[in-house]
Amino acid sequence: MFDAVLARLDKAAQIFGLAPDIAEILRHPKKEVAVSLPIKMDDGSTKVFEGYRTVHSTHLGPSKGGIRYAMDVNADEVRALSAWMTFKCAIANLPYGGAKGGIKCDPRKMSVGELERLTRAYTRSLSDIFGVNKDIPAPDMGTGKREMAWLLDEFNRIVGEDSPGVVTGKPITLGGSKGREVATGRGVMISTLAAMKKMGINYKAATAAVQGFGNVGSHAARLLASQKIKVVAISDHTAAFHNENGIDLDKAFKYAASNGNILKGFDGGQLINNNELLTASVDVLVPAAIQGVITAANANDIKAKLIVEGANGPTEADADAILNEKGIIVVPDVLANGGGVTVSYFEWVQNKYGHYWSEDEVNMKHDASMNQAFENVWFNAQQFKTSMRIGAYITALKRLDKAIRYKGNY
Ligand code: NAD
Repeated sequence: MFDAVLARLDKAAQIFGLAPDIAEILRHPKKEVAVSLPIKMDDGSTKVFEGYRTVHSTHLGPSKGGIRYAMDVNADEVRALSAWMTFKCAIANLPYGGAKGGIKCDPRKMSVGELERLTRAYTRSLSDIFGVNKDIPAPDMGTGKREMAWLLDEFNRIVGEDSPGVVTGKPITLGGSKGREVATGRGVMISTLAAMKKMGINYKAATAAVQGFGNVGSHAARLLASQKIKVVAISDHTAAFHNENGIDLDKAFKYAASNGNILKGFDGGQLINNNELLTASVDVLVPAAIQGVITAANANDIKAKLIVEGANGPTEADADAILNEKGIIVVPDVLANGGGVTVSYFEWVQNKYGHYWSEDEVNMKHDASMNQAFENVWFNAQQFKTSMRIGAYITALKRLDKAIRYKGNY
């Protein structure tokens, strides 16, 4: 995965004309930590879990990035995700560098008690990395506000004071921000509307397919539907569904909530598979589940005119050229899913300020920030006659280049 990051970084650096020494700095993460976490399981046995935290860059400010719980977590994946956070924060014009963390585990197969002990052990092991002005984690795949609350509580015990700004994506009662939970999905919706406007697509007559029905996918689907975009296909890791009249998303939400957060068995559409969802005849495709689903093998079959990447890294580097050749506009992950970290930044600001905003205020600031980021990326893509993905990297490189040079002395 990190090779996919470097492929895009190198291409953008070359088109932008980035000095080789600056590019070289960005090609390497600043700090990588791997930890072993022995956990007492409910059956009395001890299991040792692998945990990671990579700080890719602190050139623009403290590092920021989520924590992922999944079986495929490894050092390379975390490194790639940490670099994407550097570019994402730079594109969203936030005063943050990039980081990412993860634990190799299957949270669906663990009890709440085991997950709590694991999260607390991870926090203890990384307490010297995390800090309000050092490195600020957040949720990602397999984690949410519950894990962030445990992380905050453990960190507070270690430092002996309340430090709500050390983590974002917290429950609102513990200093979380209104609007944070749906923010990534909201950013996907704002990016979709902005791209459709540029492309001359009437979104009220448009159709969409959304892969993934977790935090990002479910809210993205619901918010697209709230704009009258007809969501005709949804999926998760257990099943995919198509309904040409539009999926009843309230029904899908209720069904998933009462069915262990999975869609299997939902009766609101015809059963299809995930590849059929990716290649469905729709205007916009939103991959919002996992990485590497759009590949050189299926890119030719994609019929959507627009792809808005809710997930991180859903398109493999060798599929980029095929999509470009087909004239498909791709709003890249580093722009499209930046709504989450944008509202995480608002949460951190509110924690520092000790004063909290209304949901309308958060949404208004979020939408303005996403639209501005979209315009900047669009402008750079046009100016450098390149794709939105490379335009997004160039947008980030412009800020990072300045910051690295101002700080100097490297
Ligand atoms: P999540 O754990 O809440 O949901 C993931 C969803 O993907 C689930 O519905 C799961 O069933 C589905 N899924 C897993 N494997 C699949 C497969 N093979 N095919 C189809 N569906 C599959 O995770 P999330 O927070 O929604 O994150 C999804 C993606 O968005 C990840 O790439 C993550 O890094 C990225 N992201 C998340 C946030 C955030 O704020 N949560 C922010 C930016 C980017």
